[in-house]
Amino acid sequence: MPSIVTDRSLSETAFDRAQQLMPGGVNSPARAFGAVGGTPIFIDRAEEAYLFDLDGNQYLDYIGSWGPMILGHRHPKVIQALEAALQQGTSFGAPTAAESELAERIIDAVPSVEKVRLVNSGTEATMSAVRLARGFTGRDVLVKFAGNYHGHVDSLLVSAGSAAATLGVPSSPGVTQGTTQDTIVLEYNDVAALTATFTERGSEIAGVIFEPVVGNMGVVRPSPEFCTALQQLTREHGALLICDEVMSGFRVALGGAQQLFDLSPDLTTMGKIVGGGLPVGAYGGRAEVMDHVLPAGPVFQAGTLSGNPLATAAGSATLKLLKEDPPYERLETLTGDLERGLREAAEAAGLAHSLARVGSMITIFFHVGEVPDWQTAAECDTKRYAQFFWGMMDRGCYLPCSQYEAWFVSAAHTEENIAQTIEAAREVMKEIA
Ligand SMILES: *Cc1c(COP(=O)(O)O)cnc(C)c1O
Repeated sequence: MPSIVTDRSLSETAFDRAQQLMPGGVNSPARAFGAVGGTPIFIDRAEEAYLFDLDGNQYLDYIGSWGPMILGHRHPKVIQALEAALQQGTSFGAPTAAESELAERIIDAVPSVEKVRLVNSGTEATMSAVRLARGFTGRDVLVKFAGNYHGHVDSLLVSAGSAAATLGVPSSPGVTQGTTQDTIVLEYNDVAALTATFTERGSEIAGVIFEPVVGNMGVVRPSPEFCTALQQLTREHGALLICDEVMSGFRVALGGAQQLFDLSPDLTTMGKIVGGGLPVGAYGGRAEVMDHVLPAGPVFQAGTLSGNPLATAAGSATLKLLKEDPPYERLETLTGDLERGLREAAEAAGLAHSLARVGSMITIFFHVGEVPDWQTAAECDTKRYAQFFWGMMDRGCYLPCSQYEAWFVSAAHTEENIAQTIEAAREVMKEIA
């Protein structure tokens, strides 16, 4: 059971200390609760679908470490794999069979991936994929979409979503004009703008990078027309299609959003679930393209801790479980129930809202009408979201601390958990309406 939270004093003290030591008291800005006000909860430990804070409060976890924990926290098989790896040593800087095992599992799961390179984060994966697209095509220009977040890669920090969007920063100081001048930013789902851009500059475009299910401006689904245009225009003009599945990969289906929407990108970037809760990223795609990466080809990319034995053990154990005992149907049912419950609660309270969901990724936008792009997402009532967030926190439901982040349901969540969450939402929405 999630607990009624009345005391957060130990978290507050811990945050005071952290603020003296780290910028904003955190190691990643989304954790600082800047978009909802107040101070963050400090986590002591986690188990299955629950987080426990320093004050001993118990929360039902809807962020799952922002995506990775699809099996819930401390899945016994993942812990077992980590314990076994620990006995062998933590880092060698030399090849291991464990890397091939994870690579095999990725290639087996993701339809378009023939060869893959393991890195340490989603950011590293997208940074490397962009370099590879430019190196492979010999072109400079990159197309991205407003509200899509691809990590803190300089050339991609233009109208970025996630924390950058939450903070209302269109691009970051420290990113030079020179770095971003070759990045074109379009609205998501805007087929006309994409077509016009290719008509005008098609021969200069190295690639198009996109989130096949957006999670970083809240959940936004691509239209079928948009998917077709992405696929056809890149092919026609010799540009690479880069599917950023760092969030959607192994989440909306074992083969990611590309399986769901029948996409065949040239390159795919992965992260989050692929590391099973440890730091792993990966990029892969057509063998012909991937063989341009050093030492097979000339495009430089390296990493001291890439393919780390603990990280690959957690990643392989997670992908093995997802394949052998797929949770996707159950996640669809659970999250579908959550969607219906939240809609009914918002309707009962008379709150303007719009729900978006793909599989176990879900967002309630405080907005009238569907949200297809960043322009529309930016109109949401974020003050209302902040009230909703704190009402849910007080009732032991840990939601993303921003309107513009997806909620994640895990395989460890139960029907009862979903019912409890809907009940809490019903109360909170009545209060804030
Ligand atoms: C989280 C995320 C990234 C960045 O991954 P990190 O591991 O945080 O560097 C990139 N792309 C998408 C779509 C993401 O959701």
